[in-house]
Amino acid sequence: MLFDLIRSQEGPVSILKKALDHGRVPTAYLFTGPPGCGRMMAALATAASLNCQSGAIACGSCSSCLLYSAGNHPDLNLIGLPEGKRQIVIEQIREQILARAYLKPMSGETSTFIVQDAHLMNMNASNAFLKTLEEPPATSHFILIATDRDSVLPTISSRCQTLAFSPLPRQVVEDILVKEGIQKAEASLLAAMAKGSVKNALVYQSTGALEDLAGEFEPLSSLHNYGVGQLLDLAQRWGRNRQDALGVLEFMAQWYRDMMILFEGAPEDQVIHVAHIQELKKGADRIGGVNLASILESVEDAREAIEANTNVQLTLDTLLLGVRNHTLPTEKSA
Ligand SMILES: [Zn+2]
Repeated sequence: MLFDLIRSQEGPVSILKKALDHGRVPTAYLFTGPPGCGRMMAALATAASLNCQSGAIACGSCSSCLLYSAGNHPDLNLIGLPEGKRQIVIEQIREQILARAYLKPMSGETSTFIVQDAHLMNMNASNAFLKTLEEPPATSHFILIATDRDSVLPTISSRCQTLAFSPLPRQVVEDILVKEGIQKAEASLLAAMAKGSVKNALVYQSTGALEDLAGEFEPLSSLHNYGVGQLLDLAQRWGRNRQDALGVLEFMAQWYRDMMILFEGAPEDQVIHVAHIQELKKGADRIGGVNLASILESVEDAREAIEANTNVQLTLDTLLLGVRNHTLPTEKSA
């Protein structure tokens, strides 16, 4: 069963199965959610179900389903961003959708067109596609995949049934990464950073983002020894742009959350940065629960401020000075 491969998306999966089971599949779906959370697998399972030789829900083992699993079925049309391009353009929609959608399916009863990154269709491409949705061919189905509903034209989304896929729980991402052959400690760290997306985790892994971040441990462990000048230098380095700053804040939140977990005596397997457990324990003892709570709150405030477009440098300056004050040894009994 192809749907069984999809993890933690019970809501959208049950809606899809019900529609397939009742033979009431809408002409067009819009699957929204972060990349790497199961949207594409659900799209393939839906397409396979429409042509499965043994039932209404893709069995996963008939010859048709096997072709869908491999992405090779002649009635499966995958439309995505061409290598090196930043938009899906009208020529692509004409060639890959309009030229084929009104033809009879090649081997099954239904053709399915899956548009990955549908939010990257430019205006002309979107309008051309819209024409097809306005007069849909009887034997064709369309599944658009996008990050969120607002990222495609309202005229398109209003003709689709939207199914929202959620970011995957951290543990599920970790399990998937371990199955992919990544070591547990690394998988755990990647999963913590990945915001519910297996794809994000794999990008972090391949770009060496973890090693980059590892270089940031040292300042965090000794913030209490930093003078004001050093702190402002650090803030300048961390705040070169909004994106970098948000990455650092995520990292700080993990770091101090780990300390809080240890301070409260929770099981150590909940700690993200296990490789640094001794430093974290020392920090937790020195800083104490009340100060850790204040630090976590100020990191969260800084994140909100930066997301709301305040001055990055100023926000980090204030944050680091505040965090240092909460980590000074004199406040340890607080
Ligand atoms: Zn089948």
